[in-house]
Amino acid sequence: MAEEFSRETEERLLRYAAIDTQSDESSASAPSTACQFDLLNLLVAELTAIGAADVRMTGYGAVLATIPGTAPAPTIAFLAHVDTAPQFRATGVRPVVHRAYDGGTIRFADAPDLGLSPEQSPYLAGKVGDDIVTASGTTLLGADDKAGIAIVMTAARHLLAGPGIAHGPIRIAFTPDEEIGRGVHADLPGDLGAGIAYTFDGGDRGEIAFETFSADRAVVRIAGVSIHPGWAEDKLVNALHLAARIIETLPQVTRTPETTAGREGFIHLYEMSGTAAEAELRFILRDFEREGLAAHGALVRQVSEAVAATEPRARVSVEITPQYRNMRYWLENDMRPVDLARAACRDIGIVPHSQPVRGGTDGSRLTEMGVPCPNLFTGMQEVHGPREYVSTADMAAAVRLARRLAELWGQEKA
Ligand SMILES: [Zn+2]
Repeated sequence: MAEEFSRETEERLLRYAAIDTQSDESSASAPSTACQFDLLNLLVAELTAIGAADVRMTGYGAVLATIPGTAPAPTIAFLAHVDTAPQFRATGVRPVVHRAYDGGTIRFADAPDLGLSPEQSPYLAGKVGDDIVTASGTTLLGADDKAGIAIVMTAARHLLAGPGIAHGPIRIAFTPDEEIGRGVHADLPGDLGAGIAYTFDGGDRGEIAFETFSADRAVVRIAGVSIHPGWAEDKLVNALHLAARIIETLPQVTRTPETTAGREGFIHLYEMSGTAAEAELRFILRDFEREGLAAHGALVRQVSEAVAATEPRARVSVEITPQYRNMRYWLENDMRPVDLARAACRDIGIVPHSQPVRGGTDGSRLTEMGVPCPNLFTGMQEVHGPREYVSTADMAAAVRLARRLAELWGQEKA
């Protein structure tokens, strides 16, 4: 299916996907991995080549640029992230284009046993006739979020070429380390200099997400009484036993990620460590509502304190740290960023839809920091695994969405 922008987004995705940009949570540097500079530097060169203004890389590894305005209108920003997920092999990605998908099973050159069919991914059933990009079977593709980068770069190239569209200034940002939750540096909102932003980091065609989880982290620390086990009678207080009691007392068949869906929140124990002397439990707490999130934290606290009360010689502390908040809290005061995205979507012939995201995006943090930032579709599917794919027609549609969005914002008052 030859759609405007299909070929360009495809070429860009193939070029970007072949570059290893996997992020690493255990690294303290910013960006977390030096390999991300390979793509960041390429994007600096490409933005310069297509005539973008103010092209630069920040000290924290974000590439910024401007598409100068052609009308007095608000400054908006388009974002995508360069890193790929640490959860699956991401070195040596060989992207493959499957021309004119026939509705059957897609095969992978480097993994004969692997297949991709509409049974595994129902979305694929709607892509008959499209060109589908996958990896070769042994790595992820990294369409998350190199599809987003290809979309933003193609839209930027098109707008800079001067197609006669009246739009305000458009800022571009390509950020590192989204997959490890460090995509939004404290200086990014200021450096961005835009009142409204959009991430191109969503999935299905037509998706416009403006609700994400609210998120806290909870750490329970338990100090027991350590003593030689040979002389321990009535003296040893085993921190591991207390930790186990806390875990046992917390809900197992409700409020866990594996027992919740839709708009339900959860308490997720993701790490425990320790010795008989000291133990630590690490939880993530998630909910779409402030009250629900607070209730999860209160339950962790209540259970920890109740277990601590059974053993006065132990010391138990609970520390709860905010991570990010549902972007709806800010957007519902001014829904224009969502309303214009929906209008732009309808104008290009696609029905917009919005589902609450059971996770966070860079936009959650940005929104909280004062830059409302809904998340828009790219077409990417089955992300973070070997079956990851994207339709070039979906990417092309997202470029048309970006162009129409620029145009609609161009009609607003600065
Ligand atoms: Zn992503």
